[in-house]
Amino acid sequence: MLDDFSTGQPISYRLMKNIINSKQFNHAYLIQTNNYYKAEQLALAFAKALICLQGYTNNHECNNCCFCERIDNNNFPELKIIRPEELWIKKEEIIELQNAYSLKPLEGNKRVYIIYEPEKLNHQSANSLLKFLEEPQSNIIAILVTNNVQKIIKTIVSRCQIINLISNKLADYEKLFTDINDFSFLKLGLLTHQNEKELQKYLEDKENINKIKSVIEFISKLEKEYNDILLDINNLWHSYIKEKKDFIFAFNVIIFFYKDVINYLNFNKIEIFDEYQMIIKKIAANNDNTTLSRKLNKVISLKETITSNVNLNLLLDKLVISLGGV
Ligand SMILES: [Zn+2]
Repeated sequence: MLDDFSTGQPISYRLMKNIINSKQFNHAYLIQTNNYYKAEQLALAFAKALICLQGYTNNHECNNCCFCERIDNNNFPELKIIRPEELWIKKEEIIELQNAYSLKPLEGNKRVYIIYEPEKLNHQSANSLLKFLEEPQSNIIAILVTNNVQKIIKTIVSRCQIINLISNKLADYEKLFTDINDFSFLKLGLLTHQNEKELQKYLEDKENINKIKSVIEFISKLEKEYNDILLDINNLWHSYIKEKKDFIFAFNVIIFFYKDVINYLNFNKIEIFDEYQMIIKKIAANNDNTTLSRKLNKVISLKETITSNVNLNLLLDKLVISLGGV
């Protein structure tokens, strides 16, 4: 069940759930496993939830509807699974899939196929798959599951929405995630930490949640009433952002936050800071694209000046002027 992954893979889980709830399907998804040991089960659970008669009605999975039950018994014609036989995935298998799915569905309205290890498509089978992906039919959804995305031809990857799983080490760390319900905090951590140890350290330090909150409140205040910020600056900034490394953290928050505002303004989409939707909407309503990009660029270039001998107070002054004073 997809719900089984709500704690082990919280971000991908929520993403998949949103896809199913919103009924905004892509034609192809590429799951990057990062060696997550239950990746195959997750891919199957996602496929099941896509096909399920009830989806997430009432925000829950079905209690095994007749489709789900037959998927469990490996007896459902609208879900096909392809994996390499020995070294390669042969062209014949892709052709067979295409033929089977060229006819109208026998049951349900969605057909899904999963390809495990698509990096093992040989040249010919990759081309056949590409053709299939290039002429998408609305009711066919592909799920590719790989640990070697760099070995898949780029034209295939570019057709897919990427779903990045958290690696084993972190996923095993379920305890860490279960008591975090702040997804902005999680997503920001995953985006700003390449190194797993650093990420663990970040996640364990719950003070980071407060730092994010406070920096965003600081932005919100600054956007509304530039003059008043000087009174609040102690409260909102100095209580949390003290050393150079806090400044780098705070600047990252601001950069990703403004990216979300720009995303919201242009695509109605928030990628990280869902929890701060109200603030994002207000800022998007009060700024145009040009102003927002100018602010973002300014913050990025200020962040680059954070070196060993930077004067932090001066830097903060510059930040306040860049965001509020123009
Ligand atoms: Zn079902």
